Amino acid sequence: MSEELLRELRRKWLPIYVLLLFSLVFVLLHLAINYVHTGNVAYANWAIPIVFFTLYTAYALSKLLRTKIPVYRYYRVIKCTKCDYEVTEEIKEGDYLFREHGKCPKCSGILLVSKIYRKKSFKGVL
Ligand SMILES: [Zn+2]
Repeated sequence: MSEELLRELRRKWLPIYVLLLFSLVFVLLHLAINYVHTGNVAYANWAIPIVFFTLYTAYALSKLLRTKIPVYRYYRVIKCTKCDYEVTEEIKEGDYLFREHGKCPKCSGILLVSKIYRKKSFKGVL
């Protein structure tokens, strides 16, 4: 599953799960209070499937919150062809391997993009 899709799903479903969980807890409280005041068993019977549904919603919400989205940052290593001068910085749009990158500040040799790599980190809820 792509990160964008995961992020979009999370953004869409998080408020729905939270609202559903609150309303289910509210309904359960309502049923419990009615059962205590009236003693009618029908309230307790209705509470049983709602308890399961509430637990399932809480599980789905916790699963949604636990899922972490990987975020990638891309870096390039610019290296001089003559001396040992080397710089690592974030990549710019349009970079490619062995692209010329101006003159070396130490020996005025040619600078080339010698490596391109990415680092993975995980993002939290949103
Ligand atoms: Zn150099």
